[in-house]
Amino acid sequence: MNLSFEIKLANNYTSQSQKIRVLTENWVLNQIYCPNCGNRIDGYKNNKSVADFYCKKCIEDFELKSKNGKMGAKVSAGAYSQMIKRINSSEKPNFFFMGYLSSWIVNDFFVIPKHFFIPEIIEERKPLSETARRAGWIGSNILFSKIPKAGHIFYVEDGKEVSKKNVLEKWQKTLFLKKVRVPEAKGWILDIMNCIDTLNKKEFSLQDVYDFESDLRVIHPENKHIKDKIRQQLQFLRDKGYLKFTGRGNYLIS
Ligand SMILES: [Zn+2]
Repeated sequence: MNLSFEIKLANNYTSQSQKIRVLTENWVLNQIYCPNCGNRIDGYKNNKSVADFYCKKCIEDFELKSKNGKMGAKVSAGAYSQMIKRINSSEKPNFFFMGYLSSWIVNDFFVIPKHFFIPEIIEERKPLSETARRAGWIGSNILFSKIPKAGHIFYVEDGKEVSKKNVLEKWQKTLFLKKVRVPEAKGWILDIMNCIDTLNKKEFSLQDVYDFESDLRVIHPENKHIKDKIRQQLQFLRDKGYLKFTGRGNYLIS
């Protein structure tokens, strides 16, 4: 994989945002493959606004969000109401995220599968002030911290390429979430996956996850049986092969 942009393509453009769009999109088309099947991806023509790229074979759409520098904890995602509408629609795309350096080299590139997108990961920004050109307009951010690690599938991490085999395998491991269609059920699974990530341990016990009971009560104040919910999600994650049960009564991320 070549991590450099083809800089000469920018010569025909004067606006900085156009240059960046041309360079980043060209790089994706030439270097990035579909994370589901491994084949090349194609670009939508500019006037089509549903997404930026697609895979013919899998009928998957991809939208690119890029930024100069490290990706950080969040990335801006346009108008809040529109973002929520897209997330709730059946046509939501998968998202590619790219952080590039000022030397026009890709530092980070990852895909977050669409089945990780729920309204809770979108932060509503404060409306723009009265004096702004678009006064009252409400923007949004995508909060990476609310998306489990399993949902960040890196092709390039801190300047290093990840093997294709690894990318394809990681993608396949997330597909069980596609079948969870009830938003509330998906919210619970993602919450428990995030708790497990926070533990940052290879092996953990049921009690380790019970320790998040009070945090989970803040997110789900209506639920009176948090521990039951925790056990249910662990069972589900185990049935789907995301977790393994060890002989010692502990869990492992598989
Ligand atoms: Zn594909």
